[in-house]
Amino acid sequence: MARLNSAPLAAEKAVYHSYQEDYVNADLHCHSTVSDGVLAPDELALRAFEKGVELWALTDHDDTSGLDLARAAAEEIGMGFVPGVEISVTWRGPTIHVLGLGVDAQCRELDAGLAGLRAGRAERAQRIGAQLEKLGSADAYTGALSFAPNPDMIGRTHFARLLVQRGLFRDVQAAFDAYLKPGRPAYVPHTWAELGAAVQWINRAGGVAVLAHPLRYRLSGTELFELCGQFVDVGGTGIEVVSGRQSPQFVSAMAKIARHFDLDASRGSDFHAPAESGLDLGEAPPLPDDLRPIWRWFL
Ligand code: AMP
Ligand code: MN
Ligand code: MN
Ligand code: MN
Repeated sequence: MARLNSAPLAAEKAVYHSYQEDYVNADLHCHSTVSDGVLAPDELALRAFEKGVELWALTDHDDTSGLDLARAAAEEIGMGFVPGVEISVTWRGPTIHVLGLGVDAQCRELDAGLAGLRAGRAERAQRIGAQLEKLGSADAYTGALSFAPNPDMIGRTHFARLLVQRGLFRDVQAAFDAYLKPGRPAYVPHTWAELGAAVQWINRAGGVAVLAHPLRYRLSGTELFELCGQFVDVGGTGIEVVSGRQSPQFVSAMAKIARHFDLDASRGSDFHAPAESGLDLGEAPPLPDDLRPIWRWFL
């Protein structure tokens, strides 16, 4: 936490630099059929390009197997590409997500770490299925598997889609709210990677670590500060200041944190599916223009 006290607040800095001239439409967070998105990596690349994205990252949960196809598609269209991943982390109980951007998927340490995370998913999914069975949804595990093109990466979103298909809920969000989020009857607690380990895998793979959607963890302000301080201490580089559909107040709250901890800023839609996302690829609001964009590492 040393940085917390010693880092000057950006507002006190004498020189103000605007990054607006360097502005690119960067979307550095989305999901394909390799995790819980519904479009294949090459379909996503095309959609991103059509939506005006100039620099695009694919960041599937705990899996990098879509990156080759994504890169090939992006190169063919002539769109900038950043290979990414979104790592599941357990921090003081809650699950948080850390994006690795610019990672080399061949890195053994990253690959082994992600394989370890995927290994726990099947058993967890069976337990989620058993809970749903008790709630009256038979064969939920098998049903959810049919929504998971990559069975290694079965997750809660696949269960949510199954419950929607079965007519139990209007949409994925309602299924999470009733059954799948923490505190709900089909939520199964799980221990993911340690924060320091996840950041180390990313750094060893030549990437930069970005704390994803910091306002979704239901942490208190103090806890969020402690998380950010620890994230910096273990080698984190950036924070997702703009994530999906966010109110201007949320963006400015995250911008303050970025300035306070001197973190680079990232922007991503967290796009999963046309029918589910509040926001399409490339549509998130721009970053406040005094923040250092994380894509300075990739241009
Ligand atoms: P998992 O890694 O299997 O726990 O699934 C995490 C994913 O579930 C997230 O990346 C989101 O796509 C989705 N998710 C988590 N919480 C919610 C929520 N409250 N509403 C809608 N989707 C959610
Ligand atoms: Mn997801
Ligand atoms: Mn996430
Ligand atoms: Mn995501």
